[in-house]
Amino acid sequence: MIIVLKAEVEASDPEVGRLIALAEGFPGVRTELHRIQGATRSLTEIYLLGHTGVIPTTPFEEFACVEKVVRITERFRSIGRHGGGLEAVGFEYNGVRISQDSFPPFPGLCAVDTPENLDAVFGLLARLGVATARAGAYKPRTSPYDFQGHGARCLPWVFERAGKHGIRIVAMEVTRESHIEEIQKALAASGYATGVMLQIGTRNAQNFELLKAVGQQTELPVLFKRGMGITLEESLNACEYVASGGNRRILFCLRGMKTNLGDPHRNFVDFAHVPVVKRLTRLPVCVDPSHAVGSRALAPDGLLDIFHTAAQGVIAGANAVLVDCHPSPEAALCDGPQALLTRELPVLLEDLRIVRQAYEARLRNLAASSAGT
Ligand code: PEP
Ligand code: MN
Repeated sequence: MIIVLKAEVEASDPEVGRLIALAEGFPGVRTELHRIQGATRSLTEIYLLGHTGVIPTTPFEEFACVEKVVRITERFRSIGRHGGGLEAVGFEYNGVRISQDSFPPFPGLCAVDTPENLDAVFGLLARLGVATARAGAYKPRTSPYDFQGHGARCLPWVFERAGKHGIRIVAMEVTRESHIEEIQKALAASGYATGVMLQIGTRNAQNFELLKAVGQQTELPVLFKRGMGITLEESLNACEYVASGGNRRILFCLRGMKTNLGDPHRNFVDFAHVPVVKRLTRLPVCVDPSHAVGSRALAPDGLLDIFHTAAQGVIAGANAVLVDCHPSPEAALCDGPQALLTRELPVLLEDLRIVRQAYEARLRNLAASSAGT
Protein backbone atom coordinates (compact mmCIF):
# COMPACT_ATOMS: atom_id res chain seq x y z
CA MET A 1 0.00 0.00 0.00
CA ILE A 2 1.26 3.50 -0.84
CA ILE A 3 0.04 6.61 0.94
CA VAL A 4 0.51 9.74 -1.15
CA LEU A 5 0.75 12.91 0.95
CA LYS A 6 -0.54 16.27 -0.23
CA ALA A 7 2.16 18.21 -2.10
CA GLU A 8 2.76 20.85 0.54
CA VAL A 9 3.09 18.39 3.45
CA GLU A 10 6.59 17.95 4.90
CA ALA A 11 7.74 14.58 6.22
CA SER A 12 8.51 16.31 9.54
CA ASP A 13 4.82 17.23 10.03
CA PRO A 14 3.61 15.70 13.39
CA GLU A 15 0.53 14.34 11.61
CA VAL A 16 2.84 12.29 9.36
CA GLY A 17 4.45 10.87 12.50
CA ARG A 18 1.02 9.80 13.78
CA LEU A 19 0.18 8.23 10.42
CA ILE A 20 3.41 6.21 10.44
CA ALA A 21 2.77 5.10 14.03
CA LEU A 22 -0.72 3.92 13.03
CA ALA A 23 0.69 1.97 10.07
CA GLU A 24 3.47 0.36 12.08
CA GLY A 25 0.93 -0.58 14.77
CA PHE A 26 -0.42 -3.25 12.41
CA PRO A 27 1.42 -6.57 12.92
CA GLY A 28 4.25 -7.23 10.44
CA VAL A 29 4.03 -3.80 8.77
CA ARG A 30 6.94 -1.42 8.29
CA THR A 31 7.12 1.87 6.42
CA GLU A 32 9.47 3.62 4.02
CA LEU A 33 9.35 7.30 3.14
CA HIS A 34 10.09 8.43 -0.41
CA ARG A 35 10.31 11.93 -1.83
CA ILE A 36 9.00 11.77 -5.40
CA GLN A 37 9.68 14.27 -8.17
CA GLY A 38 6.48 14.21 -10.24
CA ALA A 39 5.77 15.93 -13.56
CA THR A 40 4.62 19.20 -12.02
CA ARG A 41 5.35 18.90 -8.31
CA SER A 42 7.32 16.93 -5.77
CA LEU A 43 5.53 14.97 -3.10
CA THR A 44 6.09 12.47 -0.35
CA GLU A 45 4.94 8.87 -0.48
CA ILE A 46 4.82 6.47 2.44
CA TYR A 47 5.20 2.82 1.47
CA LEU A 48 3.58 0.28 3.79
CA LEU A 49 5.47 -2.98 3.43
CA GLY A 50 4.68 -6.43 4.78
CA HIS A 51 1.24 -7.85 5.50
CA THR A 52 -0.77 -4.95 4.13
CA GLY A 53 -3.50 -6.95 2.34
CA VAL A 54 -5.77 -6.96 5.37
CA ILE A 55 -5.23 -3.33 6.38
CA PRO A 56 -8.18 -1.00 5.69
CA THR A 57 -7.48 2.20 3.74
CA THR A 58 -10.09 4.40 5.45
CA PRO A 59 -8.19 5.25 8.66
CA PHE A 60 -5.35 6.60 6.50
CA GLU A 61 -7.62 8.45 4.09
CA GLU A 62 -9.07 10.36 7.05
CA PHE A 63 -5.75 12.13 7.75
CA ALA A 64 -5.84 15.72 6.47
CA CYS A 65 -2.29 15.39 5.13
CA VAL A 66 -3.20 12.46 2.86
CA GLU A 67 -4.00 12.96 -0.82
CA LYS A 68 -4.79 9.33 -1.56
CA VAL A 69 -4.14 5.75 -0.60
CA VAL A 70 -3.20 3.40 -3.42
CA ARG A 71 -3.28 -0.37 -3.08
CA ILE A 72 -0.42 -2.09 -4.83
CA THR A 73 -2.11 -4.11 -7.53
CA GLU A 74 0.76 -5.50 -9.53
CA ARG A 75 4.25 -6.90 -9.31
CA PHE A 76 6.23 -3.73 -10.03
CA ARG A 77 5.96 -2.39 -6.53
CA SER A 78 8.48 0.44 -6.83
CA ILE A 79 8.23 1.44 -10.49
CA GLY A 80 4.59 0.53 -11.24
CA ARG A 81 1.66 2.90 -11.74
CA HIS A 82 -0.67 0.56 -9.85
CA GLY A 83 -3.72 0.94 -12.01
CA GLY A 84 -2.95 4.55 -12.87
CA GLY A 85 -3.16 5.59 -9.23
CA LEU A 86 0.36 7.03 -9.15
CA GLU A 87 1.90 9.76 -11.24
CA ALA A 88 5.17 9.45 -13.16
CA VAL A 89 8.46 9.85 -11.33
CA GLY A 90 10.99 12.07 -12.96
CA PHE A 91 14.35 13.14 -11.63
CA GLU A 92 16.83 15.90 -11.91
CA TYR A 93 20.50 15.09 -12.15
CA ASN A 94 23.34 17.57 -12.57
CA GLY A 95 20.91 20.25 -13.69
CA VAL A 96 19.14 18.09 -16.30
CA ARG A 97 15.54 17.06 -15.87
CA ILE A 98 14.55 13.59 -17.08
CA SER A 99 10.89 12.62 -16.81
CA GLN A 100 7.91 11.34 -18.78
CA ASP A 101 7.66 14.89 -20.18
CA SER A 102 11.29 15.63 -21.00
CA PHE A 103 13.13 15.04 -24.27
CA PRO A 104 16.95 15.11 -24.09
CA PRO A 105 19.01 13.37 -26.81
CA PHE A 106 22.09 11.35 -25.79
CA PRO A 107 24.28 11.24 -28.92
CA GLY A 108 27.89 10.12 -28.79
CA LEU A 109 30.51 7.46 -29.30
CA CYS A 110 29.42 3.86 -28.81
CA ALA A 111 32.94 3.24 -27.52
CA VAL A 112 35.43 5.92 -26.55
CA ASP A 113 38.49 5.45 -28.77
CA THR A 114 40.61 8.59 -29.09
CA PRO A 115 40.61 11.95 -27.30
CA GLU A 116 40.38 13.62 -30.73
CA ASN A 117 37.17 11.79 -31.63
CA LEU A 118 35.69 12.51 -28.23
CA ASP A 119 36.53 16.20 -28.62
CA ALA A 120 35.01 16.24 -32.09
CA VAL A 121 31.70 14.76 -30.89
CA PHE A 122 31.43 16.63 -27.59
CA GLY A 123 32.44 19.86 -29.35
CA LEU A 124 29.70 19.33 -31.93
CA LEU A 125 27.15 18.71 -29.18
CA ALA A 126 28.22 21.90 -27.44
CA ARG A 127 27.69 23.84 -30.68
CA LEU A 128 24.25 22.24 -31.04
CA GLY A 129 23.33 23.14 -27.47
CA VAL A 130 23.19 19.51 -26.32
CA ALA A 131 24.44 18.81 -22.77
CA THR A 132 23.72 15.07 -22.62
CA ALA A 133 25.83 12.42 -24.36
CA ARG A 134 26.83 8.78 -24.51
CA ALA A 135 30.40 7.46 -24.28
CA GLY A 136 31.24 3.82 -23.63
CA ALA A 137 34.37 2.91 -21.68
CA TYR A 138 33.54 -0.68 -20.72
CA LYS A 139 32.24 -2.59 -23.73
CA PRO A 140 30.56 -6.01 -23.55
CA ARG A 141 31.57 -7.58 -26.87
CA THR A 142 30.34 -10.74 -28.54
CA SER A 143 33.92 -11.79 -29.31
CA PRO A 144 36.72 -11.71 -26.73
CA TYR A 145 39.09 -10.65 -29.54
CA ASP A 146 37.21 -7.42 -30.21
CA PHE A 147 38.02 -4.07 -28.62
CA GLN A 148 36.76 -4.22 -25.03
CA GLY A 149 36.84 -0.47 -24.34
CA HIS A 150 39.60 1.57 -22.70
CA GLY A 151 38.05 0.99 -19.25
CA ALA A 152 39.03 3.03 -16.20
CA ARG A 153 42.13 4.51 -17.82
CA CYS A 154 40.12 6.72 -20.17
CA LEU A 155 37.80 8.09 -17.48
CA PRO A 156 40.00 11.07 -16.48
CA TRP A 157 40.17 12.44 -20.04
CA VAL A 158 36.55 11.55 -20.83
CA PHE A 159 35.29 13.48 -17.81
CA GLU A 160 37.72 16.36 -18.34
CA ARG A 161 36.59 16.76 -21.94
CA ALA A 162 32.93 16.39 -21.09
CA GLY A 163 33.32 19.22 -18.59
CA LYS A 164 35.22 21.33 -21.12
CA HIS A 165 32.34 21.07 -23.60
CA GLY A 166 29.59 21.61 -21.03
CA ILE A 167 28.31 18.03 -21.12
CA ARG A 168 26.35 17.53 -17.91
CA ILE A 169 25.51 13.82 -18.22
CA VAL A 170 27.44 11.03 -19.92
CA ALA A 171 25.58 7.72 -20.31
CA MET A 172 28.22 5.04 -19.71
CA GLU A 173 27.73 1.29 -19.50
CA VAL A 174 29.03 -0.67 -16.52
CA THR A 175 29.43 -4.42 -16.75
CA ARG A 176 30.58 -5.22 -13.23
CA GLU A 177 30.13 -3.75 -9.78
CA SER A 178 33.70 -2.46 -9.49
CA HIS A 179 33.11 -0.15 -12.48
CA ILE A 180 30.67 1.90 -10.38
CA GLU A 181 33.38 2.78 -7.88
CA GLU A 182 35.91 3.44 -10.62
CA ILE A 183 33.50 5.94 -12.16
CA GLN A 184 32.65 7.54 -8.81
CA LYS A 185 36.33 7.98 -7.97
CA ALA A 186 37.20 9.39 -11.40
CA LEU A 187 34.26 11.80 -11.22
CA ALA A 188 35.43 13.03 -7.82
CA ALA A 189 39.02 13.34 -9.11
CA SER A 190 37.74 15.44 -12.02
CA GLY A 191 36.09 17.81 -9.54
CA TYR A 192 32.71 16.59 -10.84
CA ALA A 193 33.44 18.08 -14.24
CA THR A 194 30.37 16.21 -15.53
CA GLY A 195 27.84 13.61 -14.37
CA VAL A 196 27.40 9.95 -15.29
CA MET A 197 24.28 7.92 -15.84
CA LEU A 198 25.18 4.27 -15.28
CA GLN A 199 24.02 2.19 -18.24
CA ILE A 200 22.94 -1.41 -17.79
CA GLY A 201 23.31 -3.04 -21.19
CA THR A 202 20.82 -5.44 -22.70
CA ARG A 203 23.18 -8.35 -22.04
CA ASN A 204 23.16 -7.56 -18.33
CA ALA A 205 19.44 -6.88 -18.05
CA GLN A 206 19.12 -9.90 -15.75
CA ASN A 207 22.48 -9.66 -14.02
CA PHE A 208 20.73 -9.30 -10.69
CA GLU A 209 23.85 -8.64 -8.64
CA LEU A 210 24.84 -5.78 -10.94
CA LEU A 211 21.27 -4.44 -10.80
CA LYS A 212 21.37 -4.53 -7.00
CA ALA A 213 24.72 -2.75 -7.02
CA VAL A 214 23.53 0.16 -9.19
CA GLY A 215 20.31 0.25 -7.18
CA GLN A 216 22.02 0.43 -3.81
CA GLN A 217 23.96 3.57 -4.66
CA THR A 218 22.01 6.76 -5.12
CA GLU A 219 24.73 9.09 -6.35
CA LEU A 220 24.30 8.21 -10.03
CA PRO A 221 21.09 7.62 -12.02
CA VAL A 222 20.62 4.48 -14.11
CA LEU A 223 19.85 3.91 -17.78
CA PHE A 224 18.36 0.43 -17.92
CA LYS A 225 18.26 -1.24 -21.33
CA ARG A 226 15.53 -3.75 -21.93
CA GLY A 227 16.77 -7.33 -22.22
CA MET A 228 16.83 -8.27 -25.90
CA GLY A 229 15.63 -11.85 -25.42
CA ILE A 230 13.21 -11.64 -22.49
CA THR A 231 9.66 -10.42 -22.10
CA LEU A 232 8.82 -6.84 -21.25
CA GLU A 233 7.51 -8.02 -17.90
CA GLU A 234 10.84 -9.71 -17.13
CA SER A 235 12.69 -6.50 -18.03
CA LEU A 236 10.41 -4.47 -15.78
CA ASN A 237 10.98 -6.90 -12.94
CA ALA A 238 14.72 -6.58 -13.52
CA CYS A 239 14.36 -2.81 -13.32
CA GLU A 240 12.49 -3.26 -10.09
CA TYR A 241 15.74 -4.64 -8.63
CA VAL A 242 17.32 -1.22 -9.17
CA ALA A 243 14.38 0.71 -7.72
CA SER A 244 13.83 -1.59 -4.75
CA GLY A 245 17.50 -1.19 -3.85
CA GLY A 246 16.78 2.49 -3.21
CA ASN A 247 17.69 4.17 -6.50
CA ARG A 248 14.59 5.40 -8.28
CA ARG A 249 16.40 7.66 -10.73
CA ILE A 250 15.92 5.30 -13.66
CA LEU A 251 15.54 5.88 -17.40
CA PHE A 252 14.12 2.79 -19.13
CA CYS A 253 15.47 2.22 -22.65
CA LEU A 254 13.98 0.26 -25.55
CA ARG A 255 16.62 -0.93 -28.04
CA GLY A 256 15.01 -3.66 -30.12
CA MET A 257 14.64 -7.41 -29.65
CA LYS A 258 16.91 -10.20 -30.86
CA THR A 259 15.11 -12.25 -33.50
CA ASN A 260 15.67 -12.97 -37.18
CA LEU A 261 12.15 -11.67 -37.79
CA GLY A 262 13.62 -8.18 -37.54
CA ASP A 263 16.03 -8.78 -40.47
CA PRO A 264 17.51 -6.88 -42.16
CA HIS A 265 17.61 -4.68 -39.06
CA ARG A 266 20.01 -5.78 -36.33
CA ASN A 267 17.11 -6.08 -33.88
CA PHE A 268 13.33 -6.06 -34.17
CA VAL A 269 12.22 -2.55 -33.34
CA ASP A 270 10.02 -2.48 -30.24
CA PHE A 271 9.25 1.22 -29.97
CA ALA A 272 5.50 0.52 -29.97
CA HIS A 273 6.23 -0.29 -26.32
CA VAL A 274 7.02 3.36 -25.47
CA PRO A 275 3.42 4.10 -24.37
CA VAL A 276 3.16 0.66 -22.78
CA VAL A 277 6.12 1.26 -20.47
CA LYS A 278 4.79 4.74 -19.66
CA ARG A 279 1.44 3.22 -18.78
CA LEU A 280 2.80 0.34 -16.70
CA THR A 281 5.52 2.28 -14.92
CA ARG A 282 6.29 5.70 -13.58
CA LEU A 283 9.60 5.82 -15.45
CA PRO A 284 10.70 8.01 -18.34
CA VAL A 285 11.36 5.99 -21.51
CA CYS A 286 14.34 6.28 -23.85
CA VAL A 287 14.76 4.73 -27.30
CA ASP A 288 18.00 3.64 -28.95
CA PRO A 289 17.49 3.56 -32.74
CA SER A 290 21.21 2.83 -33.39
CA HIS A 291 21.34 -0.55 -31.69
CA ALA A 292 17.83 -1.35 -32.94
CA VAL A 293 18.65 -0.79 -36.63
CA GLY A 294 22.38 -1.57 -36.59
CA SER A 295 23.26 -0.02 -39.95
CA ARG A 296 23.30 3.18 -41.98
CA ALA A 297 20.71 1.78 -44.41
CA LEU A 298 18.99 4.53 -46.35
CA ALA A 299 15.31 4.63 -47.30
CA PRO A 300 14.34 5.79 -50.82
CA ASP A 301 13.09 9.07 -49.33
CA GLY A 302 16.67 9.87 -48.32
CA LEU A 303 16.22 9.39 -44.58
CA LEU A 304 18.31 6.76 -42.82
CA ASP A 305 16.37 3.88 -41.26
CA ILE A 306 17.84 5.15 -37.95
CA PHE A 307 16.00 8.47 -38.47
CA HIS A 308 12.71 6.72 -39.25
CA THR A 309 13.08 4.40 -36.28
CA ALA A 310 13.96 7.22 -33.88
CA ALA A 311 10.91 9.09 -35.16
CA GLN A 312 8.70 6.10 -34.36
CA GLY A 313 9.82 6.29 -30.75
CA VAL A 314 9.45 10.05 -30.51
CA ILE A 315 6.01 10.24 -32.15
CA ALA A 316 4.91 7.75 -29.47
CA GLY A 317 6.19 10.00 -26.66
CA ALA A 318 9.75 8.80 -25.98
CA ASN A 319 11.55 10.94 -23.40
CA ALA A 320 15.13 10.50 -24.55
CA VAL A 321 17.04 9.20 -27.57
CA LEU A 322 20.37 7.38 -27.34
CA VAL A 323 22.21 7.49 -30.64
CA ASP A 324 25.67 6.48 -31.92
CA CYS A 325 27.73 9.03 -33.81
CA HIS A 326 31.38 8.95 -34.92
CA PRO A 327 33.62 11.37 -36.84
CA SER A 328 34.81 8.48 -39.06
CA PRO A 329 32.56 5.43 -38.60
CA GLU A 330 34.80 3.25 -40.80
CA ALA A 331 37.57 3.64 -38.21
CA ALA A 332 35.33 3.15 -35.12
CA LEU A 333 36.42 0.30 -32.86
CA CYS A 334 32.85 -0.69 -32.03
CA ASP A 335 29.55 -0.49 -33.94
CA GLY A 336 30.90 1.72 -36.74
CA PRO A 337 28.31 0.44 -39.25
CA GLN A 338 25.47 2.07 -37.28
CA ALA A 339 27.19 5.34 -36.32
CA LEU A 340 25.85 8.58 -37.76
CA LEU A 341 28.34 10.90 -39.43
CA THR A 342 28.88 14.14 -37.55
CA ARG A 343 27.20 16.07 -40.37
CA GLU A 344 24.09 13.89 -39.97
CA LEU A 345 23.67 14.55 -36.28
CA PRO A 346 22.26 18.11 -36.57
CA VAL A 347 19.86 16.82 -39.24
CA LEU A 348 18.64 14.07 -36.91
CA LEU A 349 18.21 16.47 -33.99
CA GLU A 350 16.13 18.84 -36.14
CA ASP A 351 14.15 15.88 -37.49
CA LEU A 352 13.41 14.74 -33.93
CA ARG A 353 12.41 18.26 -32.91
CA ILE A 354 9.85 18.25 -35.74
CA VAL A 355 8.54 14.85 -34.69
CA ARG A 356 8.38 15.87 -31.03
CA GLN A 357 6.30 18.90 -32.05
CA ALA A 358 3.97 16.56 -33.91
CA TYR A 359 3.65 14.44 -30.75
CA GLU A 360 2.80 17.54 -28.72
CA ALA A 361 0.26 18.58 -31.38
CA ARG A 362 -1.34 15.13 -31.03
CA LEU A 363 -1.75 15.73 -27.30
CA ARG A 364 -3.24 19.19 -27.89
CA ASN A 365 -5.67 17.75 -30.41
CA LEU A 366 -6.76 15.18 -27.84
CA ALA A 367 -7.11 17.80 -25.10
CA ALA A 368 -9.22 20.00 -27.41
CA SER A 369 -11.47 17.09 -28.37
CA SER A 370 -12.03 16.08 -24.74
CA ALA A 371 -12.66 19.71 -23.70
CA GLY A 372 -15.37 19.85 -26.39
CA THR A 373 -17.20 16.75 -25.15
C1 PEP B 1 25.44 0.25 -26.09
O1 PEP B 1 24.54 1.09 -25.95
O2 PEP B 1 26.62 0.54 -26.28
C2 PEP B 1 25.09 -1.17 -26.08
C3 PEP B 1 26.01 -2.12 -25.99
O3 PEP B 1 23.78 -1.36 -26.20
P1 PEP B 1 22.92 -2.69 -25.88
O4 PEP B 1 23.24 -3.09 -24.50
O5 PEP B 1 21.51 -2.21 -26.07
O6 PEP B 1 23.33 -3.70 -26.93
MN1 MN C 1 27.17 -0.31 -29.40
